[in-house]
Amino acid sequence: MATATRDYYDVLGVERNASEADIKKAYWDLARKYHPDVNTDDPSAETKFKEINQAYQVLSDEEKRAIYDRFGDENGVGAGAGGGWSSNSGGFDPFGSIFDAFFGENPFGGRAARPGPARGHDLKQSVEMTLEEAVSGVTKTVRVERMGMCKSCGGEGARPGTSRATCPECGGRGQVQSVNSTPFGMFTRITTCPRCNGEGTVIESPCDECRGAGRVREAVRLEVEVPAGVDTGARIRVRGEGDAGTHGGPPGDLWVYITVLPHSRFERDGNDLRIEVPISFPQAALGDELTIQAIDGAEVKVKVPAGAQSGAEYRVRGRGVPLLRGFGRGDMVVRIAVLTPTRLSARERELLEELAGLQTSNAQPRGARKKKRQGLFGRAGQAGSKGTG
Ligand SMILES: [Zn+2]
Ligand SMILES: [Zn+2]
Repeated sequence: MATATRDYYDVLGVERNASEADIKKAYWDLARKYHPDVNTDDPSAETKFKEINQAYQVLSDEEKRAIYDRFGDENGVGAGAGGGWSSNSGGFDPFGSIFDAFFGENPFGGRAARPGPARGHDLKQSVEMTLEEAVSGVTKTVRVERMGMCKSCGGEGARPGTSRATCPECGGRGQVQSVNSTPFGMFTRITTCPRCNGEGTVIESPCDECRGAGRVREAVRLEVEVPAGVDTGARIRVRGEGDAGTHGGPPGDLWVYITVLPHSRFERDGNDLRIEVPISFPQAALGDELTIQAIDGAEVKVKVPAGAQSGAEYRVRGRGVPLLRGFGRGDMVVRIAVLTPTRLSARERELLEELAGLQTSNAQPRGARKKKRQGLFGRAGQAGSKGTG
């Protein structure tokens, strides 16, 4: 069902650093070639034509292009820095393809003579949260500055109590005709009415609040629900909270970009949480049961077997980050670090000396280190020279 989107630069056959002019030129050349009107007997031309338009829509817009360059890949739903979730965006509501917003509209310009309802712009806002919040899910208050619908005139632009009047210039048609005579004959030129900009109506007494624009700048605070499991780079779409539309068009969406702050104890690794726990040499040698506070605050017991080595890892199932899509949680991975004591009491020193005297382990014999090393290097050297000779 889902078709992989080709790289937009490949579609237009331009370099990734192509200038605006290059992109425009490549687009026009291809659009002319694959226009369905000139390829009536080739049904694949239409698909190709749509692809070209899609690519151009994104690459011709500085902002969309920047987003595409950054998040790239098919459907545009790659994770950003930090890598949170995959491009598998099937049907999860608050998250959608970032390109939905772009392709929801007529892919070929939609530049009618009469300005129809236009959707408001999408807006971006970033929000930071702690790892704990990302694990539990959180409601964040997000401040947004946007073009809101003028409440005084309801977006109409006309002073309350008045209404728009038919444009006297074009009689409501939105277009005006002019006849040009040239050596080749008479040509009738139809252009957009300059008085009403093609709308067919004019505002005679503009709204005081918005001066006829129908929209006013406003700052609002919105509560945004962030689901458990998000990672840095995740984006949440809040429908209809972008700029208000114009001429009766729908509002744009607000995109909330998530940054999860680093944690003092845990390091995130996908849905796993890694933690390093220092233990003493006797604990490692004899084994022990550690009590570790998990990210959700619960005290978790971790058994360290006798003879544990520094760097050994123990996995505690289900104490990591909840899966953003689906059920279950990642793990907590406990890595032990065996600490060598640096300041010894007399008694400790005595015991360690005694232990060292036993020399029961496989470790390097005490006091023989220098000699043994020379031996090792000597052998290695000989082996090496034999190998090459
Ligand atoms: Zn108004
Ligand atoms: Zn007019």
